Order: sequence, then C-alpha cells, then structure tokens
Amino acid sequence: MTRPALSIVIPCYNEEACLAELHRRVSAAARAAVGEDYELVLVNDGSRDGSWQVMRQLGAGDPRLVAINLSRNHGHQLALTAGLDLCSGSRILIIDADLQDPPELLSDMMAAMDAQEADVVYAVRRARAGETVFKKATASAFYRLLSRLTDVEIPVDTGDFRLMSRRALDALLSLPEQARFIRGMVAWIGFRQVPFLYDRHERHAGHSKYPLSKMLAFAFDAITGFSTAPLRWASHFGLALVGVSFLLLVYIAYGWLAGNAIQGWTSMMLVVVVLGAVQMFVLGMIGEYLGRLYIETKRRPLYIVADVVGKAGGRQSLGYVAETTAPIETPGVNGNRPIA
Ligand code: UDP
Ligand code: MG
Repeated sequence: MTRPALSIVIPCYNEEACLAELHRRVSAAARAAVGEDYELVLVNDGSRDGSWQVMRQLGAGDPRLVAINLSRNHGHQLALTAGLDLCSGSRILIIDADLQDPPELLSDMMAAMDAQEADVVYAVRRARAGETVFKKATASAFYRLLSRLTDVEIPVDTGDFRLMSRRALDALLSLPEQARFIRGMVAWIGFRQVPFLYDRHERHAGHSKYPLSKMLAFAFDAITGFSTAPLRWASHFGLALVGVSFLLLVYIAYGWLAGNAIQGWTSMMLVVVVLGAVQMFVLGMIGEYLGRLYIETKRRPLYIVADVVGKAGGRQSLGYVAETTAPIETPGVNGNRPIA
C-alpha cells in the first residue's frame, strides 16, 4: 500500500460556514509542506446543517479529499477517532474545522518534528482570542486539576491540534476504549513528544459546539479515564471516619456511664446528615466508574460510518463502515440525499 506523506484529519459538526475557507487554507498549507502528496479527511459528525452537502461538493472537485459521513452525531472525540482510523498518511495532522488553529503552522510543525526527531508535535496555546473569560478560566483549572490527578504527564493548555507520526498514531489506535480523551491518550502512549507554541485565533464562523454540559462530560471522561484517585479518596475518607467513630464510641460510652445519654439531638442530626451526604457522593463516584465499566464491556464499535466519498485507505479497526451498495452520487441510497 502506498501512503500519502500527510493526512489531515478534521472532525466537523455544523461547520458549513467554515468548510470552504477551511478547505482552501488547509489545502494550501498541505501543498506548501508536502506538495501534492497528501489527503484531507473530513468527518461529518451528524451535522444538522448542510455540512455534508458542502463536503460532497468539495470532494467532487478534489481527488485528495476523503469525506466521511457518520451515521449520527458521535461527539468530537469519536468523530476524530473515525478520521484517524480511516486515514492512511505517514504523518497525521489533527486540526479543528473552525480555523481557530492556523493550518499555516503545518510546515513549521513538520520542521520541528524532523529537527527534534519527535513522534508527536503538540501545539500549546500561548494566547486564546475570542474565548470568554469563563471558558479560559475553567479550561485552565481543568488542565491543572487533571495533571494533579493523573500519573500521565498530560500537557497543560493543549488541545487536539497536533502532528503525529504513523507509528504514534498506530499506537494510539491500539487503545480500544469507548470513553476517549484523545489528548491524554496520546500523552499516555509515550514516544518523543515536543511542544509547539502558538496563538489561538477566533472561530472563522459559527459558534462553539462545546457548551458547559459537554465540557463537563469531557472533563469527567478525562478524569475517570486517567485516574482512579477519586476512588482512592473514598477509601482514605472511610479510613479517617473509622478513626473518628472510635473516638465517638469512647465519648458515647462515657455519656452513657455518666447518665446523660439523651441530649445531643444537634450532634446526632449533624452526623446523620453529613454522613448521608458523603455516602451518597461516594456512591455516585463509584457509580461513575461502574457505569463506564458497563459501557466498555459492551465492546461496541466506536463509530458507524454511513457514507464515504473518496478513497479511505486506513486500517478501520475501531468502528463499523457500512457497505455502500450504490454509487455515492445516487440520491436516496444509504442516507445520501441529493445535493441541494
Ligand atoms: N465537533 C464534532 N462533534 C461534536 C462537537 C464538535 O465533530 O459533537 C468538532 C467541531 O466541528 C470542531 C471541533 O470538534 O471542528 C472542536 O469544536 P469547537 O470548535 O466547537 O470547540 P471549542 O474550540 O469551542 O472548544
Ligand atoms: Mg473551536
């Protein structure tokens, strides 16, 4: 099999307003870095707007474009996984569709990879334009909490924007888990990984697809995926309470012997309420891990592809790709709608 020198993998959810400009700038950057020897893998993550139609139109005029249509919205990390699993390049650039991360950095990232003999060049945000104070503050707090909780060195202020070697990508694709926190998983695989500083821009168009609820779910996946520290806290806390209850036992026995056993409604309620709350919290925490265990044991494919336009030559080991029974141009088959 012949691999292109470079694959650029881009997950897209409701990005129709970005796609044309994305295609133009990313193609130019790829050409500047490797000439014509590249492929562009766009993953449509169940967009509700016209993203898929735009992708197909772009694909019709560009033999280097591979457009992948997931069967529904799978979420950013799984859409990215699908693109990575189906791309075939010797080097792989991961980038968002909204042009917050400038594709023009590609050549410099390639040079850094060569010069430092690295397997991963990860882009570290020096500045983030156009993002709210709240987003920046929560993101910063999250990355710092995460690095305290985990044994893996997950770089701070780093998104998924990065360049990887084929062997690093293959190592990443050997991790089968459903709950994927890709930037952490890349850190986990090891190899030589070097930072690359850059300034993050504003979105080209549209708005963030990461509302607070998705950010929280993402943070939960990151923490439970990379650390069992919360479970350890639960047992430490339980142990501490055993000590406290011994002291209380002495106090209670003393009260009983001294004949004043009835008093103490306040302290009693306090113990009941506080312990009840703590128990519920700890149970919930255990439940989080248990739930993830349950989901992982089902071993479902990580993504389902409905249609592919162009030639996807990757290993396709983590998901399911539906057989296309008719040429992709045929309307109405396999979920293809005619181009509006
Ligand atoms: N994205 C996706 N599926 C989703 C949500 C987001 O593929 O369910 C893509 C989105 O199109 C973009 C990238 O993931 O290319 C990052 O999303 P976004 O820019 O909204 O996140 P932010 O930069 O605000 O953290
Ligand atoms: Mg963005």
